[in-house]
Amino acid sequence: MTTESTSAPNFIRNQIREEIEAGRSQKIVTRFPPEPNGFLHIGHAKSICLNFGLAQQFGGDCHLRFDDTNPAKEEQAYIDAIKEDVHWLGFEWAGEVRHASDYFDQLYAWAQHLIREGKAYVDDLSPDEMREYRGTLTEPGRPSPWRERSVEENLDLLERMRVGEFAEGEKVLRAKIDMASPNINMRDPILYRIRHATHHQTGDKWKIYPSYDFTHGQSDAIEGISHSVCTLEFEDHRPLYEWFLNNLPVPTKPRQIEFARLNLNYTLTSKRKLKLLVDQGIVDGWDDPRMPTISGMRRRGYTAASIRRFCEMIGVTRADGGLVDIAMLTHAIRSDLEENAPRAMCVINPLKVVLTNVAEDHEEVYEVPGHPGREDMPVRKVPFNRELWIDRDDFMEEPPKKFFRLAPGKEVRLRNSYVIRCDEVVKDAEGEIVELHCSVDFDTLGKNPEGRKVKGVIHWVSAIHGVPVEVRLYDNLFMVEQPDKDKDTDFLEHLNPESLVTVQAMAEPSLAGAGPEDRYQFERVGYFCADRHASRPGQLVFNRTVGLKDSWAKIQKKG
Ligand code: ATP
Ligand code: MG
Repeated sequence: MTTESTSAPNFIRNQIREEIEAGRSQKIVTRFPPEPNGFLHIGHAKSICLNFGLAQQFGGDCHLRFDDTNPAKEEQAYIDAIKEDVHWLGFEWAGEVRHASDYFDQLYAWAQHLIREGKAYVDDLSPDEMREYRGTLTEPGRPSPWRERSVEENLDLLERMRVGEFAEGEKVLRAKIDMASPNINMRDPILYRIRHATHHQTGDKWKIYPSYDFTHGQSDAIEGISHSVCTLEFEDHRPLYEWFLNNLPVPTKPRQIEFARLNLNYTLTSKRKLKLLVDQGIVDGWDDPRMPTISGMRRRGYTAASIRRFCEMIGVTRADGGLVDIAMLTHAIRSDLEENAPRAMCVINPLKVVLTNVAEDHEEVYEVPGHPGREDMPVRKVPFNRELWIDRDDFMEEPPKKFFRLAPGKEVRLRNSYVIRCDEVVKDAEGEIVELHCSVDFDTLGKNPEGRKVKGVIHWVSAIHGVPVEVRLYDNLFMVEQPDKDKDTDFLEHLNPESLVTVQAMAEPSLAGAGPEDRYQFERVGYFCADRHASRPGQLVFNRTVGLKDSWAKIQKKG
């Protein structure tokens, strides 16, 4: 199989390499700055692989910094989950976990500094008024009537905002930049808002919280970040990012570089929308195996290596590349599991087969390789008896011409075993097929009978030794490529009603010892992973990670 895919270009990596070669960059320090208001998703994985990857590549450091300036939406549980996800993806941050809130004292001092320099003021306009004063893309804004307050008054008001003397929304602190700037971000942006909320790190110490813009660049500067890598929506914020660095006595001058965010078809990559799915009970929590969250993909059976591989395959550009095909992601996991997952037989939709010419007490045990190409994997013991399970889909009473599996009077090979022929179809009163009576050709173990063409090979499980397992057949959560393309909540109308189908299956006995997160190829069916929460000895639960068909590899071959 030719599944090895090459890496796509990464312009930031190239740029840094050039800087280092030209002696313009010394130590590379990056950061991954999640807001702890939800679980990380596949889009964040792109940013994690990029930031941690750059640090690894160039012998630098990558920090993990929680961007925790909005206590209303943040939770410790999200912080814990994010740390676990970054570790699981295979990355280690340099030093302690950092928080933007670690710098609240310094940021406050810098706000006072701007006031003293005549570059910030407390504004009493209401949010509506402020919007009106701000102007539009085509019209300049107007100065607030509070713009010319004295330094003393501003310092006093800010301090009183800090200790909680004013109600939320009553006042804000703004930078005094340029109300006529063509860039709306420069029209006196907000630096502090009043919020009477308890913060997960700083408790009740603060009644005001800094804005993202006033926090991010300065946090970068405090930490000595060399390259502050973010997504393209921050491009218009870059002048402001630089304005703060140029107007404050910051210790270092980081550089902001933007790249295009990842959008995947059939997938939502917005924490807010994913949270809605969780809150409405549409999925079973943030780590539901249908969720594009890192923890959901993990539970589904994705490996960290496959997600890293995918992030390498998609590359990093400044051009908004549109939608990435999810087939590329499933290709990455499939090629990993193809190589590394042991094989097993599992019958998803069991139909009983009685082998009429096999004695009741007959037993053979086949020694079958754990993996066709991997001698390091243990051999499986596969027992064969008079009664077996096969998949209902592998039998047809009235087969079309090209059906090479089992049918009345037809022969098929049992994988790793004999050729059998179907002699009789047994039905119940309703006409439902309940079992098949077949006979074994004992001359056929490991070889095809002379003069006969037995094309089909099917998987099977001994009925005596088969292990009942719950199998969760997961599929895309959405039926359309861009579930949130139109209206904001439209995505709920595009849910796939068959995104989860649960069945009782029969597995070969080698699966009985499967531990949480053990992954297998169920031969002829797909790749499966024992659920890390629900699966336990004697009560195994397998999640379908991905099917066998690789549409991406096909597209690549054609192209
Ligand atoms: P969301 O819209 O899902 O809430 P966000 O950007 O608000 O995402 P943050 O926690 O602020 O979430 O993101 C942390 C980092 O991950 C940021 O640097 C952000 O740019 C990056 N990131 C978020 N989504 C994507 C994506 N789809 N592709 C690439 N990077 C992303
Ligand atoms: Mg954000």
